Amino acid sequence: MAANLDFSERITRAQVHMQELGVDLLLVTPSADLRYLIGYNAIPLERLTALVIAPHAEPFLIVPKLEVSTAKASPFGGLGWKVIGWSESENPYELIGSRSGFTHGRIAVDNHMWAERVLTITEKFPESNIELAAPIINAIRVVKTPAELDHLRVAAAAIDRVHAQVPNLLRVGRTEEEVGRDIADLILAEGHTRVDFVIVASGPNGASPHHELSSRVIQMGDPVVVDIGGTMPSGYCSDCTRTYSMGDPGGDYLERYAALQVAQELSTQAVSHGAISHDIDAAGRNSLAEHGLNEYFIHRTGHGIGLETHEEPYIGENNSTVIENNMVFSIEPGFYIEGVHGARIEDIVICTPSGPESINKQTRDLVVVQG
Ligand code: ZN
Ligand code: ZN
Repeated sequence: MAANLDFSERITRAQVHMQELGVDLLLVTPSADLRYLIGYNAIPLERLTALVIAPHAEPFLIVPKLEVSTAKASPFGGLGWKVIGWSESENPYELIGSRSGFTHGRIAVDNHMWAERVLTITEKFPESNIELAAPIINAIRVVKTPAELDHLRVAAAAIDRVHAQVPNLLRVGRTEEEVGRDIADLILAEGHTRVDFVIVASGPNGASPHHELSSRVIQMGDPVVVDIGGTMPSGYCSDCTRTYSMGDPGGDYLERYAALQVAQELSTQAVSHGAISHDIDAAGRNSLAEHGLNEYFIHRTGHGIGLETHEEPYIGENNSTVIENNMVFSIEPGFYIEGVHGARIEDIVICTPSGPESINKQTRDLVVVQG
């Protein structure tokens, strides 16, 4: 029951934000936003499913008739709110107006709504202004509840258990693809229901932050960047990067890696209630600059995580978001030297009243694997 109370509170808070912003109607189609607001994990299909929220009325859910029983079985149904099924002969967009009494005004739509739906809504309500729902929904989603924090801790522990086994998989002579397949199996074996991504970037491939897997054969002396994540049964995501080395990486690598480790630590320590996103980014970036690595740190420091791997808040150079307690995001600086090598260290960090809490616990040291 606690979960349902949580959902009803989320709806109430969305309605409060709508009133504050002067938005008359909120429409949410299958997405992380829908899962967040009512716990309904609807598959995005061509037939319209939409949560309809007005500021002063009970929300209702419009679904294709064949999905009524699934929708009623979701937490939304448990709250006793109306699930309205539409048949093949009906126009579901008509139901939005007829059931809500809405005729014109400001309509907010979820940020990932399909364009064809947005355009149909625009045609259906020509006197209305359509806008993004982010100011209403993200404002709630960005600060996690204690239950969400626990889900994220469980997800982090699961991906940590995978990283703990990565040294057993890395062998000179194996390809990135072979190692990646084994890691994907472990992501599921350790409790995720879905593998979201597996990056095994060996040697020069480490210089590409979003390299995934290739047929490259891992060689002695290669640094190997392993960035992995999945979705747990709770719907919450994991995301963690560690960098490994096949024996001695040689050259300047150890020195650069040490500088990266300091930068990652400094950005993490800069996390506190009231801190500004760009200051957290600068803490690590300035430190890398002192080691001449600034030009090789080519992405932002981090991203929020929850029901999606990438969500608000973002931690970057031009971002002025004020960080609050119970916001959760990655701290993942790296360096990427084209044609040579790269490295990244990534933890998920919770901003708590007593400071930053890194929920990924595996060592951040370079893990040297003896081939
Ligand atoms: Zn990440
Ligand atoms: Zn990652």
